[in-house]
Amino acid sequence: MNGSPSSLLPALSPAASLARRVSRARPRLTPPRPRIDEPRIEAAVREILIAVGEDPDREGLVDTPSRVARAYRELFSGLHEDAGAHLARQFEHSSDDDDVVVLREIEFSSTCEHHLQPFLGRAHLAYLPAPGRVTGLSKLARTVDVFARRPQLQERMTTQIADALVEHLGARGVAVVIEGEHLCMRSRGARKQGAVMVTTALRGIYKEDLALRREVLALLRGGTP
Ligand SMILES: [Zn+2]
Repeated sequence: MNGSPSSLLPALSPAASLARRVSRARPRLTPPRPRIDEPRIEAAVREILIAVGEDPDREGLVDTPSRVARAYRELFSGLHEDAGAHLARQFEHSSDDDDVVVLREIEFSSTCEHHLQPFLGRAHLAYLPAPGRVTGLSKLARTVDVFARRPQLQERMTTQIADALVEHLGARGVAVVIEGEHLCMRSRGARKQGAVMVTTALRGIYKEDLALRREVLALLRGGTP
């Protein structure tokens, strides 16, 4: 199997050279993204307060624009982070070909891009590693945060996480299940309490092989295959 340390290098080098090419190309292809502009958020929040008929200078609201700006800095920090930077931390392991890595119950908090209201829940991930390309469990959790901390749709977040595990780990199979509760649905519009949306993304062998797919989805639900 791939237990020898030397097998780590050939496995990593294509990704590493790609990363070098990308980082060299970045200044030409995309202008640097503006950092999160807190004064601009503050001005916009003040405008919203005026627009809904509030007095932004009354005592309870006077610090609200700056509080919202600080909250948005955190809630949208994933826009300026790269999942590849977290997933580049890989290590060698020796295992059988069908050893799947599962991480369940990763809590996340994201922001619905249609209403800028929170959606919250749990992500469950499984991947079948390429030889020598396992990452730490904390890096998987960080990857969820990179995609959660931005204006987002649950469906897109699910596919972005799955695609990142394929792209940056070369995983042979990936399954992602996300359960989310959308506060925009609770507090307005349909006003449905406790409705949970479940989204799934499958890649590689889990997309192709129905028996393996059933098995991995059972693992992600916390049951036995
Ligand atoms: Zn919404």
